[in-house]
Amino acid sequence: MKKGLLIVVSGPSGVGKGTVLKEFKDDPELNLAYSVSMTTRARREGEIEGKNYFFVSREAFETAVAQGELLEYAEFVGNFYGTPLSYVEKLRQEGKNVLLEIEVQGCMQVAKKCPDALTIFITPPSMEELERRIRGRGTEAEEIIQQRLSKACREMEMIGQYKYVVCNDDPKLAADIISLIIKRHMQEAQ
Ligand code: 5GP
Repeated sequence: MKKGLLIVVSGPSGVGKGTVLKEFKDDPELNLAYSVSMTTRARREGEIEGKNYFFVSREAFETAVAQGELLEYAEFVGNFYGTPLSYVEKLRQEGKNVLLEIEVQGCMQVAKKCPDALTIFITPPSMEELERRIRGRGTEAEEIIQQRLSKACREMEMIGQYKYVVCNDDPKLAADIISLIIKRHMQEAQ
C-alpha cells in the first residue's frame, strides 16, 4: 500500500483554521486522518480529551520528549504542544493522508525531518480582522490575547517557508483551495 501524505497546516491563533478544516475533513476523496496533539495547556470549555488534544502535565510532556515519542514539539504562549510520532506513522502506513494542525516552529521541524511534507499556511485577510476574531472567541484573558497577537505577527514572517499560502477571507473558499492542493498532491504521489 502507498504511504499516505503528511499535510501540515499552520496559521496564527484565531485565523479560523478549525473552521476551514471542518469544511473538508470528511471529504472521502481526501482520505484524511487527524493527528491529535499532546498539550500542557488547560482544556477549554467544550474541548474533549483525545479528540481535540491529549491534555497532559508538564512532567508527562517532558517524558514524551525525552523518550523521542514526538515528531515535533514547540512552546506556544507558555504551553507545550507536540505531535505523537507513532500514531502519525501508523496512519500513514495504512495509506491515510495525515493532517497536522500545528504552529510554525513545529512545522519547520517537520519540514526538516520530512521534506515531502505538504505545508500550508492560512493567513487572515488583515491583522485587524485577526484581532477581531481572537476577541470574538472570548475564551482568553487580555494578556493572553496580546501575547497571541504578537506571536501572530512573528508567525506571519515565516509564510515564505511554506509550500502554499491560503487566505481565509471566506472559509468555504479557503477549504476548497486546500482540498484542491491535497488532491493534486495525491495524484502526483500515485
Ligand atoms: P490552541 O491553544 O489555540 O489550541 O493552539 C495554539 C497553537 O498551537 C495553534 O497555532 C495550534 O495550531 C498549535 N498546535 C496545536 N497542536 C500542536 C502540536 O502538536 N505541535 C505544535 N508545534 N503546535 C501545535
